Amino acid sequence: MDYQKFLDTINQEMNYRDVTGKVASYIPELAKVDPRKFGMHLHCGEQQNYSFGDSEENFSIQSISKVFALAMAMEIMGEDLWDRVHVEPSGDPFNSLTQLEYENGIPRNPFINAGALVISDILVDQLDDPKQELLDLVRKLTDDDSIDFDKEVYKSERSTGYRNIAMVNYMKALGNIKCDVEPIVDFYFHLCSLAMSCKNLSHAFMIFANRGKILATDEEILTPLQTKRINALMQTCGFYDEAGEFSFEVGLPGKSGVGGGIVAIHPSKYSVAVWSPILNKKGNSELGMKALERLTSLTGLSVF
Ligand code: GLN
Repeated sequence: MDYQKFLDTINQEMNYRDVTGKVASYIPELAKVDPRKFGMHLHCGEQQNYSFGDSEENFSIQSISKVFALAMAMEIMGEDLWDRVHVEPSGDPFNSLTQLEYENGIPRNPFINAGALVISDILVDQLDDPKQELLDLVRKLTDDDSIDFDKEVYKSERSTGYRNIAMVNYMKALGNIKCDVEPIVDFYFHLCSLAMSCKNLSHAFMIFANRGKILATDEEILTPLQTKRINALMQTCGFYDEAGEFSFEVGLPGKSGVGGGIVAIHPSKYSVAVWSPILNKKGNSELGMKALERLTSLTGLSVF
């Protein structure tokens, strides 16, 4: 499969001027990004990397990091995790509070903000240094020790994240949060502030395309069952109230973030990351979704 040819086609066809959305601004620091940025990286083996554009530039991965946090919590909690967070698509925006009220403080899934906040509670409760363990995991998956939190993004979200803080308080009132609110939101805002490139992300997500093992070293990070569960959740819940549309158009499990990144995997084949900061109304990268739709159309391959 000549992936570079397909990526070059996508790069030629796509232009940020053709999209109509806006860069995220509710986290002030994110509004500073250049909306013209566009990059893509497809990884399917040590010597098999294909890319274009701004694929090696770090950006704020935001909610994409919820997949790493979920993997850590699954390791700790096993199947008991699903009593604290469910596995159904929400059909609601990622930061919605309403569903929590009539579902008694149990979030629909680990990828909406409420779900990731429960996951953060578990990690803060169970680990001595959850921020360091998160960095250790991501650095191991990418073999890149330079990956770190973006302190400016962290501070920006920390000082404006009232909805997320409200959600933790609300779930604590309903009995689904153990720790104090402050360390939970501190971890959550750090989690969202991870800075990575398309190249890093596609390398890290290769474990989900490789039955839980790091491709280069064969080290097992997740069991095949854990990998199946995470991929199923990415397929059904990875794009909030646009998960159906992403499955329909692209046909791969994936995860987006409001920094404009999307990662998707084709099990046993490849992991691909794309970045374009202009978001559609559902908070997903507009050009990124189009680029991935072209990839699965040009290759004629999706999971369906
Ligand atoms: N940090 C963002 C928030 O909590 C993450 C949202 C996202 O990427 N969808 O609102």
